[in-house]
Amino acid sequence: MAKNLQDTVTLANGVKIPWLGLGVFKVKEGREVVDAVRTAITSGYRSIDTAAIYGNEEGVGQGIKEGLKEAGISREDLFVTSKVWNADQGYESTLAAYTASLKRLDLDYLDLYLIHWPVKGKYKETWRAMETIYNEAKVRAIGVSNFHVHHLKDLFQDFKIKPMVNQVEYHPRLVQKELRAFCKEQGIQFEAWSPLMQGKLLDNPTLQEIANKYGKSIAQVIIRWDLQNGVVTIPKSIKEHRIIENSNVFDFELTKEDMEQIDALNQNQRVGSDPDNFNF
Ligand code: NDP
Repeated sequence: MAKNLQDTVTLANGVKIPWLGLGVFKVKEGREVVDAVRTAITSGYRSIDTAAIYGNEEGVGQGIKEGLKEAGISREDLFVTSKVWNADQGYESTLAAYTASLKRLDLDYLDLYLIHWPVKGKYKETWRAMETIYNEAKVRAIGVSNFHVHHLKDLFQDFKIKPMVNQVEYHPRLVQKELRAFCKEQGIQFEAWSPLMQGKLLDNPTLQEIANKYGKSIAQVIIRWDLQNGVVTIPKSIKEHRIIENSNVFDFELTKEDMEQIDALNQNQRVGSDPDNFNF
């Protein structure tokens, strides 16, 4: 169980990923993303999650530079994730996309590179490229995002390296019981995107009641629920007080009953697309 903001969990290949990081989806390129990333790092965050399609990798890179300098830490202390976008899937184009992301971020390597979505007929060639990037030691870990059990099983048929991470939508309205159990069994670290359901759960009475009990916010209760479930998580905020609030989740513990009550909020409800039915 994570004990502090910089605590990590070890992936199948021995690489350590922080339990909690900052997500930057929809964070504007330029000062907005630079400041969010810098603030997170100076507040103690050690993991940043971006993607080529977010259009903010340059700003993320700048925020990293400023954050490292202010915090007096080095690149190796950080865990940086990006993702290959759907239009770039395929073997050669994925290799090129990785290089382009590094260039925009102005980094020598990424800690984690993910296939953003399982594009039909393409994700296997993409995975072959991910393996090449990994084998050439250009990235510390590789993984997938938005893969259902059947997508993972399909990959396993052809490839030697198992994804080390599967980053999927996960929050109290979408608890992904089967997928989470499968990933656990396979040694694939489960990572939650939109952990706060993009803000849609922040007036939920059940969560409010639990939050009141501990003098915590609903966001903090949800993030704590992720961690106690062994789920890596990357809540997004551009506001300094929320970036800090979301990291103050290591001084209380949800009971088994609280955990069950939160699990029971499941409605298999998504804010994003179903990976079996997306058109982008
Ligand atoms: P989140 O569930 O993290 O919710 C973010 C929203 O909640 C924002 O509107 C933010 O507002 C608000 N918020 C954050 N903290 C608090 C708080 N303490 N109290 C009240 N409101 C709060 O949504 P995301 O979709 O951004 O998901 C997180 C990350 O997951 C993304 O940023 C991205 O990195 C990743 N992701 C990956 C996907 C994939 O396909 N692999 C898809 C979607 C996301 P404000 O900024 O104003 O504070």
